[in-house]
Amino acid sequence: MDGIFIDYYDPLFGIVVFFLIIFVASFLTYSYNIYKEKLARSEYKELLERFGIGNLDESDYVHLYKTYNLPFDSIMLLASSFVHKGNYNKSISIYLTLLEHVQDKVKKEELLEMLGTTYFKSGFLRRSVDVFLKLLEFSPRNTNALKYLLLCYEKLKDWDKALDTIESLNELKFDTKEEQIYIMMQKIMNDSLLTYDKKTEQILSIFNVAKNTTRLTAQYLLIYNKKLFWDMIYQFEIKDIIDLLWYIQFDDVNFDVVKQNDLLTQIYSAKGYLQKGCKATSIVDLDILSLLNTGDKDLRDRVDLGFDFVCKKCKKTHPMYEPRCPHCHSILSFSVKSKLIKRMNIEENLSLQ
Ligand SMILES: [Zn+2]
Repeated sequence: MDGIFIDYYDPLFGIVVFFLIIFVASFLTYSYNIYKEKLARSEYKELLERFGIGNLDESDYVHLYKTYNLPFDSIMLLASSFVHKGNYNKSISIYLTLLEHVQDKVKKEELLEMLGTTYFKSGFLRRSVDVFLKLLEFSPRNTNALKYLLLCYEKLKDWDKALDTIESLNELKFDTKEEQIYIMMQKIMNDSLLTYDKKTEQILSIFNVAKNTTRLTAQYLLIYNKKLFWDMIYQFEIKDIIDLLWYIQFDDVNFDVVKQNDLLTQIYSAKGYLQKGCKATSIVDLDILSLLNTGDKDLRDRVDLGFDFVCKKCKKTHPMYEPRCPHCHSILSFSVKSKLIKRMNIEENLSLQ
């Protein structure tokens, strides 16, 4: 019996048992950690795989942010990839879901800015205005929000609010001279209480001090006062409105004025309104068309004059004139470039349908 007790209390045995317990406990903890990590990895991998095929739910982004501590910038980058693919609704719902969980003021501001911009791009202008106004409540010096707000008011034709926004941008020392001129011009043109004479008078007073409004002024006069347009033609840079001149109907052309100027003569000779053009102008395409009018009729019938609009700021080319560049949002930055194109006749157009 004594021997058993001695064995039982053998310190060596106790040490062995003690180490055995430590070993088993460590092994179990280690195995459990490996199991947990493996589980997390496979869950994360599964999430990423789902992202790869665009199947992540809005809540998954919150999960990635809160559970897996994926950096906020990375989450924003993932969400903005949908914007680039044109899937605005998806990125909007991700931003909205994240907004409910993000507490940090800077991150909230970034989310609101992305949300407002995406609403703008997808054409939800009123919602975009609401988001930017909310953002400006706690960050009134956010110039990006003010710029987008101005774009929204412009598109919504809310000229007074657009002018208020310009004033806020001015207070932040932001140069908005061109925007102000453009909005003022639009406000006058769209004012239903002004008579046409009064409108014309105010538009010309702006044009006299801001020649970059040439196109707006010429366009307005071509619709409402063609006589004045031709009376004023030499005040406009003819090359800047060549496309407008090209599309004027024969009956609306003042040929007495046209014949006094080489470039105007060449435009209407190239168009076929005049028999004879002049020798050469600075626009080669016009000279070629004008020459063809007196030569090969078959070839002349196959070519026409087309136009591209190039933004002076970002250098992007656009097929239509727009007062604001859709790419860089610069104002009155388009210049017109003429080019020879293949004429599409009516039969060809019909056969394409
Ligand atoms: Zn541009």
